[in-house]
Amino acid sequence: MKQLDPPIPDPDWQGHVIAESTGFRWLAVRQLFNWRLVGVAVDAEPMDGATWGWCYTDPHALAAAVGIWNPDVQDEPLGWHKRPTDTIRKAPRRAEDPEYNRARCIHGNYIDTSTACGHDPYCPDFASSRRQAASMTAR
Ligand SMILES: [Zn+2]
Repeated sequence: MKQLDPPIPDPDWQGHVIAESTGFRWLAVRQLFNWRLVGVAVDAEPMDGATWGWCYTDPHALAAAVGIWNPDVQDEPLGWHKRPTDTIRKAPRRAEDPEYNRARCIHGNYIDTSTACGHDPYCPDFASSRRQAASMTAR
């Protein structure tokens, strides 16, 4: 991941390109209550939209997450609270970092090491894992 210093304003997205990786530009875009990290394919047309996105409450947390993220081997960055895309990103060489690439809920919390979501008490991903655990003990 190559971070851009200073970031480059992008008038189409009304945000800033903060980093580049293989095949993607990564932008920080201010939204109503969020800062969104947006992944746009370098060969995308202006109306194609983003391929990937994650929402942060704080622009500094977004920048810090981008600073330590290796998108070639890590599926998603850290520290976000919402994944607005339906598809979960899979890194091209994800097998190189299986510990990092464990399953997460839609709010970014690892499902196997947390007992609750931490963002939403009714998180559907934790509810389904609780149901699964309850049905296992009932047998
Ligand atoms: Zn959750």
